[in-house]
Amino acid sequence: MELELVHSEKLKVVGEMSAGLAHEIRNPIATIRGFIQLFREEEMGSKKSYFDIIIKEIDRVNYIVTDLLNVAKSKSKGQYRQTNIQLLLEEMLVLETSQLKNKGMNLVTEFETVPLIFIDPLKVQQACMNIIQNAIEAMDVGDTLFVGTKHLTEENKVCIYIKDTGIGMDPLTLEKLRTPFFTTKDTGTGLGMSTSFRVIEEMQGTIDVLSEERKGSTFTITLPIIPICKGSNIKENG
Ligand code: ADP
Ligand code: MG
Repeated sequence: MELELVHSEKLKVVGEMSAGLAHEIRNPIATIRGFIQLFREEEMGSKKSYFDIIIKEIDRVNYIVTDLLNVAKSKSKGQYRQTNIQLLLEEMLVLETSQLKNKGMNLVTEFETVPLIFIDPLKVQQACMNIIQNAIEAMDVGDTLFVGTKHLTEENKVCIYIKDTGIGMDPLTLEKLRTPFFTTKDTGTGLGMSTSFRVIEEMQGTIDVLSEERKGSTFTITLPIIPICKGSNIKENG
């Protein structure tokens, strides 16, 4: 419990700090990237590869800023609505498909017919995108990402599962998954999973993780079809 408080306190500070900063950083970065891209196209000689490095580094800054901005967004007040989860996932996967293709990875979707669920679609999308991004980072050429839905009729819940055939996690990593700033990557922020757990739990959902080293990982997000309205719970989800 004490540990949980420390976690949410950390995320709160990051969220507050990032809200304003992230936007301010993104705009000049976009301008710089645009000009560098232009110079790169004009350059015929050996300097082309330097421009590639600069662009890669700019993209890296963007990536970090996006993670920070997501923490800020996850703190915002929820907008609950009846949501078609399959449509939401399909929309999101359109964005991921080209990245998967470029990296030689496969995508398999398995959608069961599920009822509309009462959620904040942006936050569920954010959590799924964080999980999918991690899956892509854990995979190699020829690996497969599975995304699907299941209707747990008896429990009146809906599951979204995201499975990868990537590197998997050791028990220590699994244990630390929800700790803000925990990362095993050289350039990671360690903010994706902690934010995802938070937003899903705010909707009275859960994230279950199964993983085996060198085999892959499965993330299952389970959400109630209609969350129990515990007074402030729905309105003050921020
Ligand atoms: P980041 O991606 O910036 O490292 P995250 O909070 O998104 O931060 O993830 C934390 C850590 O969890 C990652 O550094 C990685 O070690 C582990 N992880 C998360 N998802 C996966 C996955 N699908 N496969 C292997 N490791 C994972
Ligand atoms: Mg991540």
